[in-house]
Amino acid sequence: MALQVELIPTGEIIRVVYPHGTCKSALGSDGVRITSMESALTARDRVGVQDFVLLENFTSEAAFIENLRRRFRENLIYTYIGPVLVSVNPYRDLQIYSRQHMERYRGVSFYEVPPHLFAVADTVYRALRTERRDQAVLISGESGAGKTEATKRLLQFYAETCPASERGGAVRDRLLQSNPVLEAFGNAKTLRNDNSSRFGKYMDVQFDFKGAPVGGHILSYLLEKSRVVHQNHGERNFHIFYQLLEGGEEETLRRLGLERNPQSYLYLVKGQCAKVTSINDKSDWKVVRKALSVIDFNEDDIEDLLSIVASVLHLGNIHFAADEQSNAQVTTENQVKYLTRLLQVDGSMLKEALTHRKIIAKGEELLSPLNLEQAAYARDALAKAIYSRTFSWLVNKINRSLAFKDPEFPSWRGTTVLGLVDIYGFEVFQHNSFEQFCINYCNEKLQQLFIELTLKSEQEEYEAEGIAWEPVPYLNNKIICDLVEEKFKGIISILDEECLRPGDATDLTFLEKLEDTVKHHPHFVTHKLADQRTRKSLGRGEFRLLHYAGEVTYSVTGFLDKNNDLLFRNLKETMCSSENPILSQCFDRNELTDKKRPETAATQFKASLFQLVEILMSKEPAYIRCIKPNDAKQPGRFDEVLIRHQVKYLGLMENLRVRRAGFAYRRKYENFLQRYKSLCPETWPTWDGRPQDGVSVLIQHLGYKPEEYKLGKTKIFIRFPKTLFATEDALEM
Ligand code: ATP
Ligand code: MG
Repeated sequence: MALQVELIPTGEIIRVVYPHGTCKSALGSDGVRITSMESALTARDRVGVQDFVLLENFTSEAAFIENLRRRFRENLIYTYIGPVLVSVNPYRDLQIYSRQHMERYRGVSFYEVPPHLFAVADTVYRALRTERRDQAVLISGESGAGKTEATKRLLQFYAETCPASERGGAVRDRLLQSNPVLEAFGNAKTLRNDNSSRFGKYMDVQFDFKGAPVGGHILSYLLEKSRVVHQNHGERNFHIFYQLLEGGEEETLRRLGLERNPQSYLYLVKGQCAKVTSINDKSDWKVVRKALSVIDFNEDDIEDLLSIVASVLHLGNIHFAADEQSNAQVTTENQVKYLTRLLQVDGSMLKEALTHRKIIAKGEELLSPLNLEQAAYARDALAKAIYSRTFSWLVNKINRSLAFKDPEFPSWRGTTVLGLVDIYGFEVFQHNSFEQFCINYCNEKLQQLFIELTLKSEQEEYEAEGIAWEPVPYLNNKIICDLVEEKFKGIISILDEECLRPGDATDLTFLEKLEDTVKHHPHFVTHKLADQRTRKSLGRGEFRLLHYAGEVTYSVTGFLDKNNDLLFRNLKETMCSSENPILSQCFDRNELTDKKRPETAATQFKASLFQLVEILMSKEPAYIRCIKPNDAKQPGRFDEVLIRHQVKYLGLMENLRVRRAGFAYRRKYENFLQRYKSLCPETWPTWDGRPQDGVSVLIQHLGYKPEEYKLGKTKIFIRFPKTLFATEDALEM
């Protein structure tokens, strides 16, 4: 018998109609083609459910993972938990972000199409336009899970589908082109991700009342500047260095005094992996060059910027030798020559600053010579300062280019804002330092926000609908945030205290103080307690935090120094005298006279995160939870252990339980009635009364039992998926 099976995408549910006239519901998903009776029967089993709330066994983690696995196998990387989008990195180009895909999701109700990033993008955009409320998309997940890719796809969606502003498409191009530039300077290959974001980014896109993007603004968070001078084995420095060396024109390199071979530069050889198969530095360079001109860089700006990039490489090659008194002397005159030209500073002043420390005591200036180790330290500190300040300058420059500057609209009046959060993901390496501590703290903070907001909004929905709320126990990570950020007793406070203490404060005295103060904290493990608490011992200079996403052992080496983040005075003076226009903005002379001690790196970071949370709280949030399927960065590999771990710490099971809170499905009365009215003679073909009353009549006719549903103010809530499936199966063609 010839099979005539038809698939009708109807939101979560697809109706499979058999030749003999009966039909069965399956779940609508992209790419499902029914070609045989067998495949028709197993369609639902094969591709899983596209919203986890429809899982029969919604409390089972195994069922959750199985659903993810089935979908992943079918290249269906997106699945919902209600309005939250769960995404699994496919590590391959699935061709699902084309213009046609964008069109498919425009103006369509969230549940009427298969789950997709663009469905979230469109829903957010429509809320922004119709309700005129600021929106924020929070993208989270560990390093390599796909946050940055998702952010880029979202931006692309808005750039391509939104109407152009009256100022033309320039803003859209700038919004898009800011990305390759920031990635070149702020991303690097790590062991976890070949294009890992080493800074946090919050980007506002501003829309006018017609829904056209008219401006943007970027906030950046703590660049991992230690990477400039050191990379772990298998990692690289920031992409820009390799791009310039690979792609830069001969003439440019000659002017900058650079050789093509990255092996010639000490700052590029530490990780021993200048070449990465997944990266084409040469073509990336072209993209970056082009992007720079789109975001208003003229040839002079580019020249100044590249001079700085080159100067960092030259700085790394500065060598010192000890004289008879063990004082450091610069031995690489050639490098100094280039630096003098590129940094546009006085050569002897620079040399002196690299080998001496200037102290002002009782109004008098004293020059104290540095030994070899101190000189190398001063050199590296200078390289880090130059690079990180240039990065901040770059962000400011991009912001000027993105700024909404329509003379007709002198203020932000009438505009709405969509914020995109793309930060560095939670990361654990063999060796974790101050940088990982900050990155993981940032992830804790955003996780806390997610917990608060999802629980809050769910609770609000139940309250608004007048449905009794049954609280769901969940892992609240506030306790870990407190451990890090609390005043006086938190890790950052203790670190600051040690940094400000004159005398003999060291990384180890910080650790001692930390152990004394927080030793009883359930998420803090000290040397003494290590074996008992986590069965893994700790080295002398280490402490362990039990993060929401897993335990991380931090080495305290360098904590004080990185937190203090000080640059010797004479290095600062040298840089303040620079005539390179970018550097003269980066190193402000006022710094030299300012007596106030600048805030420590961790405290500044903490303050910036508090500000970010505040920004996000003021907006309507949408969530994308990214999952990394394997550690090998390979397509098609579904590492169950790794995924289960992420499902756990992202709190997806709790999220699902809260979402269900006893109800698998909810739908507005109008929509429910519209879909199922044909099942009841009293509601078919039309129901003249209130939709809510129509639904009451309809479900009575269908024989719903009281425990199977609840009626809210605007929506019906259905407890079990099977009730819904039965109703769906009852629909006739
Ligand atoms: P980090 O925290 O280290 O910055 P991330 O979450 O931003 O990590 P991405 O850089 O977005 O991770 O993704 C890592 C890599 O995975 C990408 O370079 C790309 O190769 C691949 N990838 C991610 N998402 C997708 C996708 N939707 N389709 C195809 N490939 C993807
Ligand atoms: Mg990233």
